[in-house]
Amino acid sequence: MKKNYDVAVFHGDGIGPEIMAPTLEILRQLSGKNPSYELAFSDAPAGASHYAETGESFPAGSLETARNADAILLSAMGLPDVRYPDGTEISPQIDLRKQLGLFAGVRPVKVSSGQTTPLSLPNGKEIDFVLIRESTEGLFFTQGAGEVTEHEARETLLITREVSEKLFRFAFELAQNRKDTRRGRGRVTCVDKANVFRAFAFFRSMFDAEAAHHPELQADHAYVDATALWMVQKPWEFDVLVTENMFGDILSDLGAGLMGGLGLAPSADIGLNHAVFQPCHGSAPDIAGQGIANPFAMILSAAMMLEWLGLTHDHPGLSNDGERLREAVEKVTANGQNLTRDLGGSAGTQDAASSVLDELRP
Ligand code: ATP
Repeated sequence: MKKNYDVAVFHGDGIGPEIMAPTLEILRQLSGKNPSYELAFSDAPAGASHYAETGESFPAGSLETARNADAILLSAMGLPDVRYPDGTEISPQIDLRKQLGLFAGVRPVKVSSGQTTPLSLPNGKEIDFVLIRESTEGLFFTQGAGEVTEHEARETLLITREVSEKLFRFAFELAQNRKDTRRGRGRVTCVDKANVFRAFAFFRSMFDAEAAHHPELQADHAYVDATALWMVQKPWEFDVLVTENMFGDILSDLGAGLMGGLGLAPSADIGLNHAVFQPCHGSAPDIAGQGIANPFAMILSAAMMLEWLGLTHDHPGLSNDGERLREAVEKVTANGQNLTRDLGGSAGTQDAASSVLDELRP
């Protein structure tokens, strides 16, 4: 019997709708050929263009659509010249994180053989690790509410037991799943600055407490500065890294750099009951409307969505399709044909997406 899953779709701004359209087409074709599930898509209008047209950036109905969905697919959002009267940018993706308690920002960093990377990898080495960035507190806790006087400025870093315990449980479960599916060796590294800040010693103590429940997994610690060095010197040694919000913000861009740029960097923001899947890049207004945007980060985010739905609903047919979709993008990238300009090719968005569909054909 077919299982149905509802997916809320935020089409985004700038190149957002251009990369979402072929992604939905791929998902329709995948699910159309799989007898075990069906995806239903519901549009959730929001974002900078929507604000410019209607005066509303994130209608309550769209939040409701997201809340009721099994998963949320979100394209690049925000436009630099469309802002609230106080000058801040329109970012429903950040509202979603807060409203739905999406504490785990998941950023896979994968460089397969044949894929271009600024590093020269030793023979036989591939990069395949996942960075988990706590996404609701840390140094972003006072975001937009820091205190600034004439003489000083103050922001607060918050680490809570409630969120940290959920975060570490999630990290170890992910490492276990990667080990079970032979993608990782079962190692979790806590990235902190526990030698300097008491808040990070607290963070680390909760990591150690969770580690004690997983004797079959390897758990270790690394300072954030050393981690930046090792991500360049020996990134193939990492499996799952888990860290605070600001450290994760910075390291995830370093991870995208290892993958040859933002065009191949997918992400997920995951909570206990909801998850949003979105590309790491922004809405690229400089190339919007030209049909040349790279759709791969969006497509890889959709692949993560299928894998996550499969895992949380114990539905192997979905997980398999997610894996197949990710591998199809990896093959197209390794072939080096039909790549968009940011990856050194000359293909348009549609051609790049079509070659992923070709790879999926039996
Ligand atoms: P944000 O702050 O919203 O994350 P940003 O200012 O970092 O955005 P992006 O919109 O991510 O900027 O764009 C940065 C550069 O990368 C731009 O030159 C843009 O054209 C390019 N870029 C981003 N995404 C893509 C993509 N999918 N395909 C091709 N080029 C892209």
